[in-house]
Amino acid sequence: MQGASVIAGIAQRTFMACMLSGLWLCAHAQDPHAAARRALIAELRAEAAGGDGDTRIDRDVLAVLAKVPRHAYVPASEQHNAYENRPLGIGYGQTISQPYIVALMTTLAQPRAGQTILEVGTGSGYQAAVLAEFGAEVYTIEIVPPLARQAAQRLKGYPNVTTRTGDGYYGWKEQAPFDAIVVTAAASSIPPPLVAQLKPGGRMVIPVGSSFFTQTLLLVQKDAQGRVRTRQVLPVRFVPLTGGH
Ligand code: SAH
Repeated sequence: MQGASVIAGIAQRTFMACMLSGLWLCAHAQDPHAAARRALIAELRAEAAGGDGDTRIDRDVLAVLAKVPRHAYVPASEQHNAYENRPLGIGYGQTISQPYIVALMTTLAQPRAGQTILEVGTGSGYQAAVLAEFGAEVYTIEIVPPLARQAAQRLKGYPNVTTRTGDGYYGWKEQAPFDAIVVTAAASSIPPPLVAQLKPGGRMVIPVGSSFFTQTLLLVQKDAQGRVRTRQVLPVRFVPLTGGH
């Protein structure tokens, strides 16, 4: 009883402090990462301002990155680094992508409410959460079972995300065709099953190249007649797409 009343007293004092010191302190008390996340978004906005054409970043994508708590998608030991603009280890030799790259890939994929989107390489689940914030149905597939399990837990708050353990090289036939496909591991060439599962008018964003060197981020577009056009966007570095192919 005594313990409970001490806690109630602390809660009351915290509430009073919030009332007195204004909203900023309250927001900060609720999310100690808020300031770091704002700084990251400012950095991305500055970086995006230098981009044009295929390397620009949409404002609504930055707004989503300002909302999704990246620290909730990394191991506890990396949480203090969660708002640095770089990839971080998530275990099993895998990484959560650099925020700038997540922003760029999302901009290129052009997610919209009501679309069906495939992500290959769930990893931490962060990119899937970002895509889901646009109101699309997101299907995401991960080949490393413990990573797939952790991500499924983290993504529980998104009823529009479906996770699966498996080899994403072959796509997700039951849910195809997709308006957009986002591949977050580097393939040696564009997987034909993924091209086949892209809708006419659909967009695929995929890093392609050797797993030992930098790769090239490609935007693959299928037009209304089913013709496929590929554009090179940026040199990038991703973990390799593994699996049986
Ligand atoms: N999108 C992730 C980035 C993860 S890194 C995020 O936001 O955190 C790429 C992920 O792709 C790794 O977790 C890796 O295990 C996974 N992967 C590699 N090859 C795969 C394949 N063939 N099918 C599905 N996932 C794969």
